[in-house]
Amino acid sequence: MGQISSNEIISIIKSEIEDFEIDKSSRETGSVIWVGDGIATIYGLDEAMYGEIVVFENGVRGMVQDVRENEIGCILFGSDTGIKEGTVVTRTKKRAGIPVGEGFLGRVIDALGSPIDGKGEIKSSDYRPIEEPAPGIVDRKSVNVPLETGILAIDSMFPIGRGQRELIIGDRQTGKTSIAMDTIINQKGKDVICIYVAIGQKSSSVAQIVGTLKKHDALDYTIVVTSTASDPAPLQYIAPYSGTALGEYFMYKGKDVLIIYDDLSKHAVAYRAISLLLERSPGREAYPGDVFYLHSRLLERSARITEEAGGGSITALPIIETQDGDVSAYIPTNVISITDGQIFLESNLFFSGQRPAVNVGLSVSRVGGAAQTKAMKKAAGSIRIDLAQYREMEVFTQFASDLDEGTKAQLEYGRSLMELLKQPLSKPMSLAEQVITLVCATHRTFSGQKDVKGFQNGLLEYFAENGAGIVDKINAEKTLDDELIKQIEDMADKYKAENTPT
Ligand code: ATP
Ligand code: MG
Repeated sequence: MGQISSNEIISIIKSEIEDFEIDKSSRETGSVIWVGDGIATIYGLDEAMYGEIVVFENGVRGMVQDVRENEIGCILFGSDTGIKEGTVVTRTKKRAGIPVGEGFLGRVIDALGSPIDGKGEIKSSDYRPIEEPAPGIVDRKSVNVPLETGILAIDSMFPIGRGQRELIIGDRQTGKTSIAMDTIINQKGKDVICIYVAIGQKSSSVAQIVGTLKKHDALDYTIVVTSTASDPAPLQYIAPYSGTALGEYFMYKGKDVLIIYDDLSKHAVAYRAISLLLERSPGREAYPGDVFYLHSRLLERSARITEEAGGGSITALPIIETQDGDVSAYIPTNVISITDGQIFLESNLFFSGQRPAVNVGLSVSRVGGAAQTKAMKKAAGSIRIDLAQYREMEVFTQFASDLDEGTKAQLEYGRSLMELLKQPLSKPMSLAEQVITLVCATHRTFSGQKDVKGFQNGLLEYFAENGAGIVDKINAEKTLDDELIKQIEDMADKYKAENTPT
């Protein structure tokens, strides 16, 4: 090897530096190494960031999902048919986001914010990244305003507050979606914006949901974000984040938002598919190691924020499907630990006709009474404990024939409570209806009735016709004092006397 003079060294360094410059500009574009199943591996985009949007030669967009030493992994938001090895990819330096605005109310959109209801273009007011840091501690306010579901079994025992995250969990076909839908229907006139995110469902189920919302005039204040089972996994994966971005737009404007994620089990499955294709190492139940973070960073964004921060709230009702009631599987335990409580729906109850099939023992709301009106708190009293006692007693006395009067009365009271908690679909109860029902239940008005449900309906109609003063007072003032309780009891006694055959 010959000697290299200092001049030569300088010229070598110079040319390297010049090459480096050229190299830098070429980093804005890369080329596809591998593509398939909605995923592409790209070489040459060394500086692309996680979550950045990249554009392929044919216009299809993708999002950087995996940054490795020599290549990046990217999920595609469109068909991969026009993309092949060597296709040029360009950075946008923008994070993934969707258009947002009031114009989205009443519309059905896909995970990228494009309308799919055939009602034409949507005028957007802003653009928000789909991934955003959750509001910090100082921006948060305590959760103490109720978000009424209109479902007696929930509002009385597992109250949900604005800004709370309450999980709806149960096996398939146990009424999970129905609870979410009834809650949306109950928000009519309550100034709450609803967002329903469908993840991995059949298109026909989504169509049915939109139909139900329309039928009950609930679509006007609702946005439906959908990624169906036939959509590529990347779209199913981002749908809940897109929905949340829309929710945040309203929350930071001081509005109260209710968001449903139906369901996060399918969301986790879509994420698992993406991760396996990106060759991330599989962990428990083949899910990637960060699947907990997937859901925690989503649900952390639900909050009630201070006036200074905007003053609105996002209440989240994520849904999880269990297999054989197993709440200890990986995804269910994750989401249980992230949320502020769960409504546990049970197949056995559902099939025995107890609908909504809320399991009183396993359901909980960690916000609890703070999110209840004074009237509801007083009326609900001890019914949760009464029900727990009833269920225990029911088991013990199943085969006993000679029960004492006290036990018989207790059983009868428990049975009537269970009947009262049954509620048909799309029939939300007002605060007054719930309070009157509970006060009368405690007063043992329903004990001994053969047809408790029929009697309850009759009684509530009677109050609507003859006790408008009481009904309006509860709905307006949301309080309940002993005098009002007495009035309700007297009126119930009167109705009972008139309607009990002698
Ligand atoms: P999937 O696992 O398929 O998503 P799901 O748990 O969401 O099911 P739903 O679709 O809400 O369950 O309900 C299942 C069926 O039960 C529907 O046909 C619905 O109409 C019926 N159903 C749900 N709740 C009630 C109720 N309170 N009263 C009567 N029928 C009900
Ligand atoms: Mg469902």
